[in-house]
Amino acid sequence: MRLRVTAERGEAAYHSAFNTIATIPGSVWPDEWVLVGAHRDAWGPGAVDNVSGTASVIEAARAFAAAARQGHRPRRTIVFATWDAEEWGIIGSTEWVEANADQLGAHAIAYVNQDSPVSGSRFGASAAPEIRGLVREATRVVRDPGSGRFVYDVWLEAQREEDEGASMAEPTLGTMGGGSDHLPFYLHLGIPVAGYGFGGPSGVYHSMYDTADWMQRFGDPGYEYHATTSRLTAVIVARLANADLIPYGHEALAAAFRANLTDVAGELMASSGVEGIAGALQAAHEALDDYQEAASRFEAGRAAWLAAAGPSNRLAAQANGLQRDAIAALLRSPGEGGGWSRNLYVQDDPDNGYAPVLLPGVRLALRAGDLGLAGRELRLLADHFHRAADALQRALAVLPEQSR
Ligand SMILES: [Zn+2]
Repeated sequence: MRLRVTAERGEAAYHSAFNTIATIPGSVWPDEWVLVGAHRDAWGPGAVDNVSGTASVIEAARAFAAAARQGHRPRRTIVFATWDAEEWGIIGSTEWVEANADQLGAHAIAYVNQDSPVSGSRFGASAAPEIRGLVREATRVVRDPGSGRFVYDVWLEAQREEDEGASMAEPTLGTMGGGSDHLPFYLHLGIPVAGYGFGGPSGVYHSMYDTADWMQRFGDPGYEYHATTSRLTAVIVARLANADLIPYGHEALAAAFRANLTDVAGELMASSGVEGIAGALQAAHEALDDYQEAASRFEAGRAAWLAAAGPSNRLAAQANGLQRDAIAALLRSPGEGGGWSRNLYVQDDPDNGYAPVLLPGVRLALRAGDLGLAGRELRLLADHFHRAADALQRALAVLPEQSR
């Protein structure tokens, strides 16, 4: 066998990368943006990675465009993107996010990512804790083509079987770490992100066998799971774009911080010198109590408001701005240490780009054996929990008296 290799050196090693961006302006709140995207480049033919993701985004875009032509425009702005140069280091999306950071920080409410969503029939999802509920709910209204049942039920059953009869109340979603185009949105700007799809025993990842032929024979004969993924994308994006009050799960986010803080406290107890940072740990716990309390009061008020008259467009915009502030409060401010990753809940592991580290400030300080830094990071967390609680209290104050 002969193999021919062509090296690209000097000027020839430079290539242009092209993102494609399409926007449907919102009819009510054009300054609130829902983003959905997929990378368009691939190592080989890329039927799974990432024609399946590109198809999901383009088909959802086609559906929204058809609805808009018939007079049903989304209430918020929807931005559809296909990214270039993901496989070369998430370059296309990262450059776009950095170039538009101020705009995104001011307007984006969520980013939905579609990377390799179809290589089989088994559903799985990952999301920022604050939009896990939204993804879960969407699977209750879209049917699994194999069984005809709702994706939610098939997903829950499969997870229970895998956990050997565990009786979890609802399906579990994974953490969005590194490894795809959600990364700059989530880690750099703190924008809530989600990704999901149908997997299987693929084995063709990043190879020349990731072809349309493989897809038609093994991955998704009939392309029914492709259509299903796109339906899920349409439902998730439509709900984000049209909800009166953005359905962020503030309580879920606070609970996710809680679980990790408890874990970290356990690790700290096992290390010597912990006395020096006991106060910082205590401060973080107390601030998190405040945040969790504010989250649960706001969510109760939000539900009551929606069940009653519902908000006017103007009050909804005000409450939603404060909801966004509560999420953005959990981002490192300039001058507060850290690097490009500013999300206080998660970052990609510096030792493994595909894996996430939760509560990264504290955990990476512990990994480095720097208890002093861990203490400062705990105080920083406490400060940001207070800011998030404050934003939610102000959001609650926007609600009419009888809903609070
Ligand atoms: Zn890939």
